[in-house]
Amino acid sequence: MQIKRLRISGFKSFVDPADLVIEPGLTGVVGPNGCGKSNLLEALRWTMGENSARSMRGAGMEDVIFAGTATRPPRDFAEVTILAEREGDETEIVRRIERGAGSAYRIDGRDVRAKDVALLFADAATGAHSPALVSQNRIGAVIAAKPAERRAMLEEAAGIAGLHVRRRDAETK
Ligand code: ATP
Ligand code: MG
Repeated sequence: MQIKRLRISGFKSFVDPADLVIEPGLTGVVGPNGCGKSNLLEALRWTMGENSARSMRGAGMEDVIFAGTATRPPRDFAEVTILAEREGDETEIVRRIERGAGSAYRIDGRDVRAKDVALLFADAATGAHSPALVSQNRIGAVIAAKPAERRAMLEEAAGIAGLHVRRRDAETK
């Protein structure tokens, strides 16, 4: 799977809709302190299903919604779209959160469960906790990880994590 575009609206500091093209290869994000580099990575992870508000540096998940500044009022929703290419087909994954109404996901315009998005990315060996996304302090986390955690990271990198998600899914049915 290749992520080709990222559209962000109302997410953290990205109050106005931003449309980013992600070229093949390694992508680095550079800019002055506080310009939104980490927010960008968080937007990507959030859309892939990240559910820990703390790992989004917030107290609750609604903290990802643009909170307003001295000159601009807060937003009442945040929406991020990932445009990805899978085996030659384009897929659009959307996550949206509204104040007081929680999160909703769509894949190619269809309402889906969080689990469906998790499976889509798990099968593609990427996802919210993918080692392919290296955010600030993450290098240290890999080094400090317990063996079992490091094994999970390596399994994900090797592309077999999707099997475990499917097994858990099957076991709960
Ligand atoms: P550094 O180089 O210091 O790591 P950075 O480029 O990673 O900086 P971010 O942490 O992505 O910067 O962005 C921080 C900015 O995002 C701060 O100005 C903060 O006020 C703003 N921000 C975070 N959450 C929200 C929100 N919900 N609404 C509006 N602004 C927000
Ligand atoms: Mg940062």
